[in-house]
Amino acid sequence: MKVHEYQAKELLKAAEVAVPAGIVATTSAEAKKAYSALGGGLIVVKAQVHAGGRGKGVAVGPEVDRAVALKIASGEAPRPAGMAKGVQLVKSAEEAEAAAASLLGKTLVTYQTGEQGSPISKVLVTVGHDIARELYLGMAVDRAIGLPVVMASTEGGVEIETVARTAPEKILRVPIDVGCGLLDFQARKIAQALELSGETARKGHVFFKNFVRLFLDTDASLAEINPLIVTAAGDVLALDCKLNFDDNAMFRHPEVAAMLDPSEEDPSELRAGKSGLSYVSLDGDIACLVNGAGLAMSTMDLIKYHGGEPANFLDVGGGANKDQVLEGFRILLSSGNVKAVLVNIFGGIMKCDTIAGALLAAYDEIDFRVPLVVRLEGTNVELGKKMLRESGKKIITADGLTDAAKKVVAASKGAA
Ligand code: GDP
Ligand code: MG
Repeated sequence: MKVHEYQAKELLKAAEVAVPAGIVATTSAEAKKAYSALGGGLIVVKAQVHAGGRGKGVAVGPEVDRAVALKIASGEAPRPAGMAKGVQLVKSAEEAEAAAASLLGKTLVTYQTGEQGSPISKVLVTVGHDIARELYLGMAVDRAIGLPVVMASTEGGVEIETVARTAPEKILRVPIDVGCGLLDFQARKIAQALELSGETARKGHVFFKNFVRLFLDTDASLAEINPLIVTAAGDVLALDCKLNFDDNAMFRHPEVAAMLDPSEEDPSELRAGKSGLSYVSLDGDIACLVNGAGLAMSTMDLIKYHGGEPANFLDVGGGANKDQVLEGFRILLSSGNVKAVLVNIFGGIMKCDTIAGALLAAYDEIDFRVPLVVRLEGTNVELGKKMLRESGKKIITADGLTDAAKKVVAASKGAA
């Protein structure tokens, strides 16, 4: 699960990690007021969307061609004068109001959002700082060593992916013991790598330790502060922050779970979540209804191996009932490009005849305009297959995974 920058900064602040003061605004009048409330001077107005690259991104209305907007945001086409950026520096209340007006209600296109962009419904109005140095601080789970790792680099403010590719030696990696958090010597090592000294280094130590503690305490999966800045006065501040969390741990953190913004989520994935189903949208044209994540992966591998492309997959889990299967089909078929559906179920906890019954009931309630291929295996498989065969419905039954994959790929290409 992702959260907005302003929410990430609320969490940082509560964990005593230094962030600039800020106020969230949903109207340009609120942004104007926020400018004065923050004490005026240099203020930054920032579009709140989950994607990065906002500084170079463009806020556009429906009249602008999105493909062109994406080229501008990626630096592949010149930026026309007057096209609003996602992060704007302002010096008066009127400028803050105008900046908010140029963002709110628009769509922000950045190199990370793709052509579709993200809707802007909030802006963060925040105190601007004179930047002496722009640094990078991140944290992620390293699956190879089975530990979270802090990443620090003097190359802040730019895309860290580029640094990782072209100059990996410029990124310090520090593995973290989840029981101990960041140890003193590690905090010193990071400060040294970031070339911090004196009082600034001491502020850095506190910052790094609290940042790591927050990551561990909230079950975060990815955290990125880019840029981490050193101000002219020697303070260390998080100017930007991205936080992602482990969905499976959100039941332990209701305060974080409450930060979910439905407008940033895939509507089908949200709908599936409500019914206890896991749904993932993809780009192809074969919809897959399966039980179990491992079976989903091998089903998609086989579809691809036989020349097809999955449109999505829906995992109904081990003990799905008829209502869930029904809702599953509705979600699968609601994605625009589906040309065939493959049901691949292993009846373990749930028996194959129960599944066949649910499938037939769902078939009656849903208008199947595309071919349906079914492969069942497991307890009572013969009975289940017999029910499907004798139902008189246009269901293509398959024996084994390969047969199922071949049949559904052929069906999706109109050769069924
Ligand atoms: P991102 O483009 O989505 O990663 O958004 P950021 O929050 O990182 O902002 C993009 C850029 O705007 C930063 O790298 C800074 O160069 C600039 N910026 C943001 N806040 C300030 C500020 O307070 N002062 C100054 N001078 N620049 C800022
Ligand atoms: Mg940034």
